[in-house]
Amino acid sequence: MKDIIFLEPVFKSAIWGGTKLKSVYGYDIPTDHTGECWAISAHKNGDCTIANGAYAGKTLSWLWDNHRELFGNVKGEVFPLLIKIIDAKADLSIQVHPDDAYARVNENGALGKTECWYILDCDEDGKIVVGHNAKDKEELKQMIAEKRWKDLINVRSIKKGDFFQINPGTVHAIKAGTLILETQQSSDVTYRLYDYDRLDHGKLRELHIDKSIDVIQCPHVDAEVGGSSMGDETYNMEELIHCPFYTVKKISLHGEHDFNQDHAFLNVSVIEGSGEIDGTPIKKGAHFILPSGYGTCHLKGNMDIIVSHI
Ligand code: ZN
Repeated sequence: MKDIIFLEPVFKSAIWGGTKLKSVYGYDIPTDHTGECWAISAHKNGDCTIANGAYAGKTLSWLWDNHRELFGNVKGEVFPLLIKIIDAKADLSIQVHPDDAYARVNENGALGKTECWYILDCDEDGKIVVGHNAKDKEELKQMIAEKRWKDLINVRSIKKGDFFQINPGTVHAIKAGTLILETQQSSDVTYRLYDYDRLDHGKLRELHIDKSIDVIQCPHVDAEVGGSSMGDETYNMEELIHCPFYTVKKISLHGEHDFNQDHAFLNVSVIEGSGEIDGTPIKKGAHFILPSGYGTCHLKGNMDIIVSHI
């Protein structure tokens, strides 16, 4: 059976969100401050609905629980990955995530969060926060106590196509004017370190200073990204990251190409252009899963695609 599993995204409004998920991707967004499109997700806070085929109308978590054979019979209580598109019209809070061990103990058995970012687009002088400048925990605590945010936080310039791996313990923030495709562990555990003293409905959003200090890695070390790249002008596949939780690759297609889906399952997001997969039309903004045993897959068109697997 060669059924592609197309998914209906779930949208999240946020004080920092905008309207690009509609203007750039054509999604039917709920508000003019929509921050996130949870495109491939079985997380309880945003469980995607299957759009087509025998399981249309069921959720991805239902499919994971009841048809594990579609996911190569891999073990695990929850579908392990979550793919999002994020539209940051304003700066997101400065935050950090715990690892699995810390989250298990402190967050009711939740998964920790390792995430990575592919920069889909950004303003001309685009910036992002990755890392900090404290040499050890003592200096970190001191800089936080003295609110020396500018000295502490490591801001860097970005451009379209850049890629970052955000390991647990990495201070990070997406800044205004950035569109990102995020591949992450299926977790919603975030510790907010600093929120620019902004008000949300008249109130400061909650900060998690103690937990942040617990989990922030000191000193910061940049994660290594990048990997092999193979192909030609028609078809190029570039490995963006390979880590214990996921492998993420970018495919650029200009013409036709066959590839073999031999992973337990493959998450696919079309980020640019349009074309066909085994005769089914797909375009920018489409997200789907190629299940276990899918085998040879025929791609046609002019497209950039991000794929991920465990
Ligand atoms: Zn994050």
